[in-house]
Amino acid sequence: MSTAYTYLTDDHLRLRDQAQEFGHSVIAPYVPHMEAAGTHTDREVPRLMGELGWCGVIIGAEYGGMGLDHLSKTILISETAYFSGAAGGVLQASLIPTVAILYLGSEEQKRLWLPQIAAGLWATVAVTEPDSGSHVLGMDGTAHRKGKQWIINARKCFIGNSGIAGLHVVVVRTGRPGDPHSLSAFLVEADRGGIEVSQPDLVGMHGFTCGNMHLRDVHVPATHLLGEVGDGLAAAYTASVVCGRPNLAATALGLHRRVMDETIDFLRGRHRKIGKRHRETRRLSDYPVVKYRLADMKSRLMTAERLAYDAVHLLDEGRACDGELVQSKLVNNVAAGESLRDASSLHGGYAARTDHPITRLMRDIQLVGAPAGPDDVQRYRLSEKALRADRTEWSEEFIRRTRRSAAA
Ligand SMILES: Cc1cc2nc3c(=O)[nH]c(=O)nc-3n(C[C@H](O)[C@H](O)[C@H](O)COP(=O)(O)OP(=O)(O)OC[C@H]3O[C@@H](n4cnc5c(N)ncnc54)[C@H](O)[C@@H]3O)c2cc1C
Repeated sequence: MSTAYTYLTDDHLRLRDQAQEFGHSVIAPYVPHMEAAGTHTDREVPRLMGELGWCGVIIGAEYGGMGLDHLSKTILISETAYFSGAAGGVLQASLIPTVAILYLGSEEQKRLWLPQIAAGLWATVAVTEPDSGSHVLGMDGTAHRKGKQWIINARKCFIGNSGIAGLHVVVVRTGRPGDPHSLSAFLVEADRGGIEVSQPDLVGMHGFTCGNMHLRDVHVPATHLLGEVGDGLAAAYTASVVCGRPNLAATALGLHRRVMDETIDFLRGRHRKIGKRHRETRRLSDYPVVKYRLADMKSRLMTAERLAYDAVHLLDEGRACDGELVQSKLVNNVAAGESLRDASSLHGGYAARTDHPITRLMRDIQLVGAPAGPDDVQRYRLSEKALRADRTEWSEEFIRRTRRSAAA
């Protein structure tokens, strides 16, 4: 992170240092183990991050959280992802449902759940279904009211943290298809009967689970409804725009910075014999063509970093910023992918070795594109902005509602 950001405070920099220290001493030595284990649910790194209180980074101190801003959250995620995409994935995924609870939760729900999350309870937001994908309103999963209970039936897929979560924020259909108020959100404890979690193999982020959830006749009390009946789309969109997009931007940023550093180390460490008698050597990083590629990578990284930090700073300032949040994810994901292509080329044959750090980064970045919407969905959202076709500014709604409840 450059110190060129005038809005970074000493507290932000201290948090960055703390995250880097944790990354060096705890995450980095653990990564070979996570890689060797392949797709699995790691519990150790999440446990240690939970002990540091990071699940509660944006939860107010009155609910036992760290009470920090969205910029602090971005710092934690990107610094963590720098050391391990999986660790960044775990952290970012749990903060998305937290935003849904902050946005829609009743005071009782906040008092019950936020202190537990702040103390290290991991959470999921379960929206995506196999058939509807990013078309959230097209989902088939349902909840029916029976007396004082809701009964939920749904098949969810790609649910981040499904293997470690103690709490799920589940969005399902409670009304007629097509109606924007036909979805509702529920707080569902992981140990309620009827929830089956399975984990397909993933190309990267080994240790992070992103699995299928089958909810069969899961009964929850009426008090577990988040917000009102019909607030499900607002829960999903607010969480995704206000938190999901910037979280994935931060994850991509951490991976991108690591790509840059790994590539520079690699190029500086490789020499060519030159001169008539091969008495001199030249580092690969000294070749003009190589420098040209490095310049492109650095330029992309600087632009991406600026967008990731500026977008959440706007949110912290209380300004409507959906476009900036969406753009920060799109640019960070695209830029990290382009830099990886350069890095792959610059690594020559080593980019083909699965045990080389650069190939772990290539695998991990695959898991940043789809969550909180693939690139084309971000483009679609930005085109709506350009055409002034979108109606709700989710960041504005979130700011208004959370400020009101803080003032109450
Ligand atoms: C690592 C990972 C973590 C995830 N975490 C979660 C989670 O915690 N909770 C959760 O609910 N979901 C999660 N997801 C799911 C993610 O949100 C979906 O994968 C995403 O919304 C896209 O849905 P889909 O994969 O079904 O693709 P589809 O929606 O089928 O889209 C496929 C492609 O079609 C095109 N397309 C589709 N719709 C549009 C459109 N409106 N405009 C333009 N082009 C379009 C795009 O090219 C898109 O890439 C995660 C996914 C991954 C890979």
